[in-house]
Amino acid sequence: MTRAATPDPSALSLERKALLLSGRDFWSTAPVEEAGLPSVLLTDGPHGVRRQKGASDQIGFLDSLPATCFPPAVAVGSSWDPELAERLGAAVGIEARALGVHVVLGPGVNIKRSPLCGRNFEYYSEDPLLAGVLAAAHIRGQQGQGVGASVKHFAANNQETQRMQVSVDVDERTLREIYLPAFERAVAESQPATIMTAYNRINGVYASENRWLLTDVLRDEWGFAGVVLSDWGAVDDRVAALEAGLDLQMPGDRGAGNRLVVDAVKAGALDEALVDRSARRVAALAGLVTEPTDGFDAEAHHALARELAAGCAVLLKNDREALPLASGARVAVVGEFARTPRYQGGGSSHVHATRVDDALSALRDLHAGTVTFAPGFALDRTGDAAALREEAVGIARDADVTVVFAGLADSDESEGFDRTTLHLPTEQVELIRAVAAVGSRTVVVLSSGGVVSLEGWHDDVDGVLAGFLLGQAGGSALADLLTGAVDPSGRLAETIPLRLQDTPSYLNFPGEQGHVRYGEGVMVGYRHFVTTEAPVRYPFGHGLSYTTVETSDLQVRPAGADGASVSVTVTNTGPRQGRHVVQVYVSTTAGPVRRPARELRAFTKVSLEPGESRTVSIDLDRRAFAYWDVRKNGWVVAPGEYTVQIGRSASDVVAEAGVTLAGDDVVPQLTLQSSVAEWFAHPLVGAQLLEGFLASLPGDASELNDSLLQMIESMPMRRFAADFGAAIPAGELDRLIVTAQAARDGG
Ligand code: BGC
Repeated sequence: MTRAATPDPSALSLERKALLLSGRDFWSTAPVEEAGLPSVLLTDGPHGVRRQKGASDQIGFLDSLPATCFPPAVAVGSSWDPELAERLGAAVGIEARALGVHVVLGPGVNIKRSPLCGRNFEYYSEDPLLAGVLAAAHIRGQQGQGVGASVKHFAANNQETQRMQVSVDVDERTLREIYLPAFERAVAESQPATIMTAYNRINGVYASENRWLLTDVLRDEWGFAGVVLSDWGAVDDRVAALEAGLDLQMPGDRGAGNRLVVDAVKAGALDEALVDRSARRVAALAGLVTEPTDGFDAEAHHALARELAAGCAVLLKNDREALPLASGARVAVVGEFARTPRYQGGGSSHVHATRVDDALSALRDLHAGTVTFAPGFALDRTGDAAALREEAVGIARDADVTVVFAGLADSDESEGFDRTTLHLPTEQVELIRAVAAVGSRTVVVLSSGGVVSLEGWHDDVDGVLAGFLLGQAGGSALADLLTGAVDPSGRLAETIPLRLQDTPSYLNFPGEQGHVRYGEGVMVGYRHFVTTEAPVRYPFGHGLSYTTVETSDLQVRPAGADGASVSVTVTNTGPRQGRHVVQVYVSTTAGPVRRPARELRAFTKVSLEPGESRTVSIDLDRRAFAYWDVRKNGWVVAPGEYTVQIGRSASDVVAEAGVTLAGDDVVPQLTLQSSVAEWFAHPLVGAQLLEGFLASLPGDASELNDSLLQMIESMPMRRFAADFGAAIPAGELDRLIVTAQAARDGG
């Protein structure tokens, strides 16, 4: 984003510079008049602006100025549509400018490691590519309006339980392949003005004090040029945080942190250059400060919120043509959520909506036929459940279609705590089953921030539309989808499991005794399910439409040693316009590490008129084929065979084609601890060594049977040389180690 040049604060006194390193108060930075630096106002988001009126709080208790509540990230994730995310970001930017806000804190790109995470509604997906592409688009849109973004929570904040203390114990390959790439892409593609550190520790070190994360990776490797700010209250040791690379402590702590910084510099314990560096970065945020604009068009933004929401919901099931609702059909609407919608989550992202649409009124407006209503259950779970159910059954009996609005209440999920179950409240399950038993057709519409279990009622109903949380216009968007005014085009951004026990983090969530071990490694979400071939209710990427799309002519060609170009044709073979997501996965067993059976490596959403065909071309770069090699400490494309797969979901491959990549010329490192197998397989020195060994054996080498060889090969060279190495000349191993190392170094 382009910003005005800002004055350099380095010439200020140490005390004045230090002022810039923490908030003036809860939501703004300290102004420094003599340096011409105004205060910068940061407020929550990301799916709308939460500009608080008076006193500050971060958990949404106190009211904020009205703003459009757009679909939260859980919905945007399901859109698989970066253009939608960008339009949303732009609209948030426009409202922020009108409300005098300079940085809107979001988007959140943490990976949905467990469906139980109470804050999953604020995150996009269990897949890092999907999350990263959508986040980068949101930031592009928002920053295009001159309003800074804050990608959060960096990093590995994947649960609410003990979020401020827990140590996430995770290996580097898993961090690099699963938990960091969404941040990395956001930085590379959209250069967010700020990035917000997480509360948790990573392998024992607070994210806010983690030099490896904040400096080595974020700045030195990824080239991040903006401000690193803390989550609200995430700084434990201010001086350590500054040294690690955290520029701005939020909120302000009445100067306590700044005083520690000043004292440390004066005591010679902290280099003043670090104060200058962070102060310069914070000062540069002043370039975002502009006069508030004249307001925003609330009506137009409400209409936009409706259009965007309709692009997010996922049609999971549609048997017996239950949807769209036939014109003239007698429709029974059941469930309190139809008139009291649940449209966003609780906590710091809570937006004071300009208005709220309910699906019941919208259906009454849109549907050409009768619409009756019964609440079916009480949101607070009080009242006579049996009587409410009976009333609903009564109207279902007289209807052609019953639409049940079920889901989770505000009290079931929020920032600050995790869920303990995937189940819907019992009275809702009983209601669905009771109306399905008497109605001719039954459709369930779900409103929830995290996935809920469909077990116990899924097979009783004809249709399921997962709305997740759709923002303030979600009610009318749902009516658009149910009546067929809009074709459903969302796809699941997270797996819906059969059982909580099947989910990969089940045994390690939310951890114990201050630690959570990411024991499933890279096998997160669908990566686990497709690799273990464990059944799920609905896979990642699944979603139906009112039209049908065929996939043909997949072509994959290598592009250089480590990339490929893909082209594939999709044709709308159904009766109406629709939007289709082309999902490109890569599958391989190449390389020395266990790879997930397939991984999403690209996607694009295309609009197709009936009968229309489009050929989509996608370039897969080296990262699409690479794994993180802990020995090389870098990304490696292993030479070998790769299969590019087009999926209707992660579990439903509709076309595939192979490609052979030369990959990276990685010469393995050899030490005396390397196994004999590694030595024998070494491309430069292996053959020579094996030959020498075989020649040294008494009698016929073929007598060395396979199991004996295997046993020998598993030994470290040090041990082997001691036992069998008589034939290896003195100094030979050292010489080969040097030869191998020289080849690794490119010498
Ligand atoms: C949340 C952040 C939020 C901040 C300010 C924290 O508790 O984790 O996402 O931006 O509060 O409200």
